[in-house]
Amino acid sequence: ERSKLKRLRDTPPTTLDGEEIALLANIEGPKDMAQVKAVNADGIGLYRTEFLFIGRDTLPDEDEQYEAYRSVLKALPGKPVTIRTFDVGADKALNGAHARFEPNPALGLRAVRYSLAEPKMFLTQLRALLRASVHGKLRIMVPMLAHAHEIDQTLALVDKAKAELRAEKVKFDEGVQIGGMIEVPAAALALGMFVRRLSFLSIGTNDLIQYTLAIDRSDEAVVHLYDPLHPAVLKLIGGTLSTGARFGLPVSVCGEMAGDPAYTLLLLGMGLRNFSMHPGHILEIKQQVLRADLGELAPRVQRILKMDEQARVREAVERLAG
Ligand code: PEP
Ligand code: MG
Repeated sequence: ERSKLKRLRDTPPTTLDGEEIALLANIEGPKDMAQVKAVNADGIGLYRTEFLFIGRDTLPDEDEQYEAYRSVLKALPGKPVTIRTFDVGADKALNGAHARFEPNPALGLRAVRYSLAEPKMFLTQLRALLRASVHGKLRIMVPMLAHAHEIDQTLALVDKAKAELRAEKVKFDEGVQIGGMIEVPAAALALGMFVRRLSFLSIGTNDLIQYTLAIDRSDEAVVHLYDPLHPAVLKLIGGTLSTGARFGLPVSVCGEMAGDPAYTLLLLGMGLRNFSMHPGHILEIKQQVLRADLGELAPRVQRILKMDEQARVREAVERLAG
């Protein structure tokens, strides 16, 4: 089975009716690039940069970050490399001096909230990213956005980093795209403010499910309630995909759902064209894409999106594969 999958490495992920799908990789750092190349991913859909400093006491400085970002960009010439700004907090807590006690860390100072509270740290990361942008096709992605002013503050910091680099005569890609993650229900329900300000969106289903269903994704006692097929979750994902399409904004999914073959046909039928996942899942998902007929799937999935009983949704999703 493994070797059969391996033979798919160089087969383009195209559906039976000729639609090209992008299968991108999630990585934690340059160490993952060998695996990304081994499966010939179409690019990086999520580089979780917080792994640069999880488990250590000091923050990586601008040069150390620049080196890490550059090495990933250089490894994939011509392919999109989406680097996410730090998503610290919650299940990715910091050590030492940066640690804070929070009674509800998932609802606390995490991700973009943390970055905006530490503007010097954020600016350092943005400078490192912009400097690296000359080495490939960089896209910068911001996690956990919920408010328009968070985007505006982030974009203002990007402008500040650019102005500093220009003054220092340091080159960067003027056209680097800035996108946001949709992982808070409020964001999926008020997409207009994101669509107007950003160049692309990526749905973080891990957090979107956690926050929609009020299930701590790291609490064993409630994992049985964590369900990607809950009708509320599907409505938020489907709405984000259709709004993105209406505004001509590319949308990807980079949560675990994108790497689970049980959901590939459903997501394709909902309109998803960009899947980002652990590189170890790419060939298995490609196998699903190769057998999909979008013209046939789309109307069936539209009916699933109208269902309001989880058991019926689950049965219908299983039948998509039959
Ligand atoms: C997500 O929330 O789905 C996601 C991709 O981000 P992370 O798992 O790093 O929170
Ligand atoms: Mg997340």
